[in-house]
Amino acid sequence: MGSEARTNQDEPDFAELLRGAKLRVTASRLGVLRSLARLSHADAETIASEVTSQLGSVSTQTVYSVLAAFVEAGIVRRIEPAGHPALHELRVGDNHHHIVCRTCGTTTDVDCVVGKRPCLTPSETHGYLLDEAEVTFWGICPGCQERGGTLQSRALLQGA
Ligand SMILES: [Zn+2]
Ligand SMILES: [Zn+2]
Repeated sequence: MGSEARTNQDEPDFAELLRGAKLRVTASRLGVLRSLARLSHADAETIASEVTSQLGSVSTQTVYSVLAAFVEAGIVRRIEPAGHPALHELRVGDNHHHIVCRTCGTTTDVDCVVGKRPCLTPSETHGYLLDEAEVTFWGICPGCQERGGTLQSRALLQGA
């Protein structure tokens, strides 16, 4: 849930990706990478059930520690939209941003206009050396617009 399905015909060489990141190649690590290739922007629970369907059984705890190692190694990006569980994806290093649906939580990539970090310059840096602007756009996805949004969003529109 909260993610777009994506089919991947020619699977990338995940063992190579792990070796390149100086991580040992294990079945659970490969399983997590395969799941991430299928589910973009997935939370740990969703990834755990996907890996379980591939490998038989894996604990959510294992998935959490595998994801933490991947984020640390820079091969997985974690985003944490307010009020949603942390989401994970394989698309790293391009400083893309996200649009999150307020109603159903569907998360979609949107390219960074500038292409490199930080893509936004604040009016005042207060002497900080800036390296990133984390941008999340919030709105209502097309599917939810068709369904008429939620009571909550209608109330917001009516200013209630
Ligand atoms: Zn939606
Ligand atoms: Zn993304």
